[in-house]
Amino acid sequence: MQLLPRFELQSPQSLDAALALLAANDSARVVAGGTDLITNLRHGLGAPATLIELGRVPELSGITAEASGLRLGAGVTLETIADNAELALAYPALVAAARAVAAPAHRAVATLGGNLCLDTRCVFFNQSQAWRAGNDYCLKYRGDTCHVAPTGKRCHAAFSGDLAPALMVHGAAIEIASPAGTRRVSLADLYVEDGAAHLALERTEILTGVFLGAVDDGLRSGYRKARARAAIDFPLAGVAVSLHADSDALSSLAVALTGTNPRPFLLEGTDALLGRPVDGTLLAELSKLIQKQVSPMRTTVTASNYRRQVAAVLAVRLVRELSITATANVIPA
Ligand SMILES: Cc1cc2nc3c(=O)[nH]c(=O)nc-3n(C[C@H](O)[C@H](O)[C@H](O)COP(=O)(O)OP(=O)(O)OC[C@H]3O[C@@H](n4cnc5c(N)ncnc54)[C@H](O)[C@@H]3O)c2cc1C
Ligand code: SF4
Repeated sequence: MQLLPRFELQSPQSLDAALALLAANDSARVVAGGTDLITNLRHGLGAPATLIELGRVPELSGITAEASGLRLGAGVTLETIADNAELALAYPALVAAARAVAAPAHRAVATLGGNLCLDTRCVFFNQSQAWRAGNDYCLKYRGDTCHVAPTGKRCHAAFSGDLAPALMVHGAAIEIASPAGTRRVSLADLYVEDGAAHLALERTEILTGVFLGAVDDGLRSGYRKARARAAIDFPLAGVAVSLHADSDALSSLAVALTGTNPRPFLLEGTDALLGRPVDGTLLAELSKLIQKQVSPMRTTVTASNYRRQVAAVLAVRLVRELSITATANVIPA
């Protein structure tokens, strides 16, 4: 790693002040816990003239009950989520995912907003400046060729945040603020299938919070990830599931994936599995749906086909377990 580039650090004390600073500085970036951004800057991935630190913006803090559910401020740390017993009961997939991110020291400062806005990753991109220079950089930053798919003109770097799929299967919406006001969209709409520009966020916008619907006692959920190092690592594939089931049939099913594509996404076609028992035929169909819709490329040192297959295996196991277990809380293996 190299020294950080020179930058001016601003610590606004309100959302309006943060938004004004962002709008006034073309090359400014916001930083929350810094566990992703600072590492990238120390790899020479960007050199913003100004960093706007969000830690003192009150509008981004706290977990608050609302008439229709819960609001989690974008500045809430992953440690806070991981340690929250009420969240573990109401939204088990979210807590399981937070517990599976990095190491305790990272989670103590890493934020929900930073996790959702995490940059995409690739074995040709998350390298030192010298390594990337020695390989003529790449399409995503400073180069003109994608080393993963050299004949194309698209970046396939994978989104590898753990929380997004867990929130998606709980139907999360997000609030985005800009100098023009705030807008609320579903979390799934934050993401675009482009490894070089995967966020549908304007340069002057800040993610301020996440909304979850009211607690549904019958809903079971969980999150699982495959990683190279069990103690601390990004997902090679991560799967969140939520479902309603009784002994006869599945009555709802949501599956979301991360680590395989430039965006986390909700699996399509799960409606065809409803009203049926969770048996081998249904699980084989689920496996096929997943293997068709994920598109892992050679962006990690692990083979793409392994990531495709392990995504399906994780989902099948999770659906099977959630459909038979009486408890909703599934902690990652
Ligand atoms: C060794 C190591 C292991 C890791 N393992 C994992 C892992 O297993 N799973 C995982 O998900 N992550 C992992 N990470 C990445 C990172 O620690 C987490 O994703 C963390 O949640 C990022 O949050 P942060 O607050 O530190 O983000 P920051 O680094 O502060 O920001 C990340 C990005 O989000 C933007 N951003 C931050 N907040 C906002 C906001 N409110 N609105 C708009 N943009 C915003 C920043 O500009 C930046 O581009 C790992 C990191 C390291 C160093
Ligand atoms: S997928 Fe291609 S363009 Fe994107 S970061 Fe990797 S090598 Fe670069």
